[in-house]
Amino acid sequence: VKESGKNDCMMYSESWSNSSFERLTLQHEMYRAIQRCEFILHYQPQYDLVSGMMVGVEALVRWRHPVKGMIAPGEFIPIAEESGMIIQIGDWVLEEACRQNKAWQDAGLPPMPVSVNLSIRQFVQQDLSSKVASVLEKTGLKPEYLDLEITESMTMDTGHVSRCLLELTDMGVGISVDDFGTGYSSFHYLKNFPIDRLKIDRSFVRDIQQDPSDAEIVAAIIAMAHNLNIQVIAEGVENEEQMEFLRKHRCDEMQGYFWSPPVSSAAIEQMLGAAFIQ
Ligand code: C2E
Ligand code: CA
Ligand code: CA
Ligand code: CA
Repeated sequence: VKESGKNDCMMYSESWSNSSFERLTLQHEMYRAIQRCEFILHYQPQYDLVSGMMVGVEALVRWRHPVKGMIAPGEFIPIAEESGMIIQIGDWVLEEACRQNKAWQDAGLPPMPVSVNLSIRQFVQQDLSSKVASVLEKTGLKPEYLDLEITESMTMDTGHVSRCLLELTDMGVGISVDDFGTGYSSFHYLKNFPIDRLKIDRSFVRDIQQDPSDAEIVAAIIAMAHNLNIQVIAEGVENEEQMEFLRKHRCDEMQGYFWSPPVSSAAIEQMLGAAFIQ
């Protein structure tokens, strides 16, 4: 009895310590990762559904870990949010995305906004609008070429968030609601915040062809957003049928593997350069 009890305990604590050890290690390594330039941004093109032109890019962070290789944001963003490191990472992402976009414009590529994902913590812990203003000034990027993606789960302190968003939109920065439809406060957002664009979550887009209620929801979101003067982009578009459905229902833009996954900045330069030459 004693032995098996001991074994159970060991197995339990071993697997437990493994995963929390892993988290602690990643957390610790994250502190040095910024100085060591281990984070990079990839960019996913966004296309106008009528003209087919690339009209924007979303910046998506990756961690080039010296031992573990490329780590996807889904693996380290939650840990960074928990530990508070998301503030430093978020600052880096914002500045790097603005710097890169300005560099593209300076190189003569057709100007378009870059979308940057914001974490809830970036709203709570800092004066976001003055931070954004100083990054824009430092990089020389015009505010209309920056779009900030917020999520519906940012349900804290509404007064503070809406004040902050108003300052940002007054500045000329765009605001998009990411993963639209997955949170419970979707409509609250549209009513209370100055939103320029919403991004239909890919879980709705995925089953447009198989699930009639998803098709209805997507069509309804587009119609409602347009009535409120809000632009709509669909996420996770993976095939032609989905694209045709979205086009038919007058969705404005699309983003997804069907036209391009997130790619390196060099690959974006090639795409934009080619578009520019034509
Ligand atoms: P998200 O903001 O919803 O970003 C879209 C994710 O969907 C990206 O995953 C992208 O690669 C993926 N995706 C794009 N097109 C398709 C498609 O057609 N099909 C499918 N199945 N997936 C597609 P990624 O890059 O792994 O990012 C995951 C999440 O990590 C993001 O979801 C976002 O919430 C978070 N994230 C990424 N970068 C940042 C960042 O700089 N700051 C913060 N706070 N979060 C970030
Ligand atoms: Ca996003
Ligand atoms: Ca999204
Ligand atoms: Ca999503």
